[in-house]
Amino acid sequence: MTTIQQSPALSEQAQNFWSREVHHLFIDGQMVPAQSGKTLTTTNPSTGEPLARFASGGQADVDHAVLAARKAFNGPWSSWNPYERQALLMRIADVLDHRFEELIQIEAMDMGAPVSRLRNTKASLMKMLAFFASQATSISGETLMNGIPGNVTTMTLKAPVGVIGGIIPWNGPLNSQFWIIGAVLASGCTAVLKPASEASMSVLRVAEILHEAGVPAGVINVVTGSGREAGNALAAHHDVDRIAFTGSTETGRRIIEASTVNIKKLQLELGGKSADIICADADLAKAVPGAAMGVFANSGQICFAGTRVLVQRPIVEEFTDRLLAFMKTLRVGHSLDSAAALGPVISQPQLDTVLSYIDIGRNEGAELLCGGKRMGNELRNGYFMEPSVFGGVTNEMRIAREEIFGPVLSILPFDDVDEAIAIANDSEYGLGGAVWSQNLSTALRVVQGVHTGTMWVNCYGYIDPLVGFSGTKLSGYGSKGTAAHMDTYLYTKSVYLQL
Ligand code: NAD
Repeated sequence: MTTIQQSPALSEQAQNFWSREVHHLFIDGQMVPAQSGKTLTTTNPSTGEPLARFASGGQADVDHAVLAARKAFNGPWSSWNPYERQALLMRIADVLDHRFEELIQIEAMDMGAPVSRLRNTKASLMKMLAFFASQATSISGETLMNGIPGNVTTMTLKAPVGVIGGIIPWNGPLNSQFWIIGAVLASGCTAVLKPASEASMSVLRVAEILHEAGVPAGVINVVTGSGREAGNALAAHHDVDRIAFTGSTETGRRIIEASTVNIKKLQLELGGKSADIICADADLAKAVPGAAMGVFANSGQICFAGTRVLVQRPIVEEFTDRLLAFMKTLRVGHSLDSAAALGPVISQPQLDTVLSYIDIGRNEGAELLCGGKRMGNELRNGYFMEPSVFGGVTNEMRIAREEIFGPVLSILPFDDVDEAIAIANDSEYGLGGAVWSQNLSTALRVVQGVHTGTMWVNCYGYIDPLVGFSGTKLSGYGSKGTAAHMDTYLYTKSVYLQL
């Protein structure tokens, strides 16, 4: 594992952005301070240094933003036709295509993902925008037969659901916000976004850029601040119709409770502990890097990370040797270091949590095969963790049951495919999962047997909005992508028309 640190020059736009004294809320097309005047500080995870101050929104700011979103929902935006909303989404794609480097520099400094990784996410962002642009002109109801006497025509109409509260986690806000923004603009809804306090900056910057690109005032608003204050105020707000939440299962439970005040519709994308099953006949040249990056990408801070790597017993030794060799090729470094494949974890508390799981794993009897420590030398001030591998893990251990959300991979041996399926299913989560086998029958048996929202075969982590991605069990409900995603931003009206 090599560590280097070389910051390429920041773009002029990114420098201007970071030179602001305080980053205000974005409400009704304007930057406004929090009504309390309170601010929070965001830290650069690569250096541990404070990066910027931003507004700490509370109940009054959420009320202000929801009012702006409601006004916009009822205003001229409601008469934009589908082609106009589609053209807006296409224009946004064009603008973001040109502004992407500025945005990834902001994201890299704020949440720590390396620019090399973020650059690779541009294609998925463009696909997402193209998908939602296509959805804007695909909304349709049905004409239905009926058994009513007389000349009654019956049909369903689809209409935008109203004001959306979008609560966003810190592990990739630049891209993940577009699952909400895309659907909001395609459907004719409006939104108040509440990004995580650890990484809100790319969400604020995007809101400004969208406004410049022609999104009307009040359609997309951003209230930064803590989950306890701003997040809870949004989840419990009487005039928010629907919450799109991505985050931990624990917070998901609170959102459900808060939503009861006005029976909000919910989309919950929660945590995971996915199983990546490597069968004895797998092509290890592909399975080893695939399984490794299924965990270590984004320093393990991905909800569908395949952190339980189930390996069939005859190949455990060979798989492990090859994995440890692959680990030596992973460069960990500053998020602005173009050669770094992995960056830091988000914060000191997150680093402490991940390190505590190293102790937990050792105490439970697992064998630490590599990593396990905070990184030193020129990376010592950032929240850098050595990518770590545990061998000899059993599914009863806490490191196999709990979401660590850091660069820690566990190897669990299994004898036959039925046992692998049983281990994969012995989890309260059901988000992702994979099987690596050159035998299609074996692969399909695993796909059918594992109780999870998304399965990959001989690959890991592809997400395409045309295909979708969803969770089950404690990983939540509601699709990201496909027409099903759009449908949850609409409601259905049944119409009985007596002629
Ligand atoms: P988190 O639940 O702590 O926070 C998520 C968001 O909820 C943040 O904006 C936070 O401020 C807000 N929040 C916190 N408390 C709240 C409350 N009481 N009311 C309303 N909002 C509140 O999660 P995190 O630590 O930011 O993100 C990591 C978690 O997210 C992991 O569990 C990960 O698996 C999950 N995740 C899931 C997906 C998915 O698609 N399933 C994607 C990314 C992350």
